[in-house]
Amino acid sequence: MRAEAIVDLSAIKHNVALLKEKSGTNLLAVVKADAYGHGLIPVSKAALEAGASMLGVALLEEAISLREAGITAPILAWLVQPGSDFKSAIENDIDLAAGSIKALKEIQAASTDKKARVHIELDTGMTRGGFLHEWDALTPTDLEGIDVVGIFSHFARADEPSEIQNQEQLSRFNEMVSKLESFGFPNRIRHLSNSAATLTNPAASFEMVRAGIAIYGLTPDVAMGSSKDFGIRPAMQLRAALYLVKDVPAGTPVGYGASELTTRDTKLGVITMGYADGIPRVAKGAGVWINGERAPIIGRVSMDQFVVDLGPDSKAKSGDWVVVFGNGSHGEFTADDWGAASGSINYEIVTRIGPRVSRIYTAHVY
Ligand SMILES: *Cc1c(COP(=O)(O)O)cnc(C)c1O
Repeated sequence: MRAEAIVDLSAIKHNVALLKEKSGTNLLAVVKADAYGHGLIPVSKAALEAGASMLGVALLEEAISLREAGITAPILAWLVQPGSDFKSAIENDIDLAAGSIKALKEIQAASTDKKARVHIELDTGMTRGGFLHEWDALTPTDLEGIDVVGIFSHFARADEPSEIQNQEQLSRFNEMVSKLESFGFPNRIRHLSNSAATLTNPAASFEMVRAGIAIYGLTPDVAMGSSKDFGIRPAMQLRAALYLVKDVPAGTPVGYGASELTTRDTKLGVITMGYADGIPRVAKGAGVWINGERAPIIGRVSMDQFVVDLGPDSKAKSGDWVVVFGNGSHGEFTADDWGAASGSINYEIVTRIGPRVSRIYTAHVY
């Protein structure tokens, strides 16, 4: 095997149960983008087994894939393009988000005897999807023939809990929700919190939270706290087999552009994963963990491979496993480290792991 991502489903279950308990309410497990690169179907099943009451995805296609896999739990899709097949969404019992009058009209037009289940999306300060000024123009007619089951919004700065914008968004949310209530739709499921808010702001939990990154055991922001601080367990270990080990003298240029030279006589290891597999080409200061030691990247990451400096005394040989990232408990790099090394965040590291990397499921990685 060249490279594989080993996903510990017991960690996912642990994280879901813990977040659900922290929130004190229902939990929607966010499984968009192939469950943040961890694998849509196995993760969804694990999350439901651990007590998630709903699954959340961005795209209608993702929701349909869940139904095709036989998953019957409630599903919310919140980024359904205009012109999508809303009829099949309704037939497949997929809850739809709507954040504009135009979107509501389209859903109304697709409704038959079976009413569409809709969650109204509000823009309370994220300035992305959702009703903003148009909310004032909304009338009950816009909701006729639709089963309004939920109302939600999204925090822009929940990973900075002391920022006043969180409080402002929460107040705005409450104000906007009261308009829906005035139309005679009381007791709809309100949901606002992502992982960061779930971990830090239980006052915003309402009837449901939408947790993504934390169910994968990753912190929403390293400045907020580590996985360990929050008691969540990173579910993925990314590893690869060493392709080749070679001795080279000091001053040997490595890779495209000869961007780096060896600084000593050393052993280099070639790893068959590259930027096409999600290894960031810009990563500086990351590497792999092998035989209990860290070996840093040397030279540029190529499409399918990169090179690490194993050090002159390394006993590594081709075929040995290297850990690209894991939970960090043995000293290996983490997805947080790779995020920092590439000017990005753990979210981007795990979601960009490419389709050539096999996903392997286990109850225990370590
Ligand atoms: C992705 C997403 C989430 C999950 O965010 P995390 O920070 O991963 O918990 C929640 N809600 C919406 C609308 C999203 O798009």
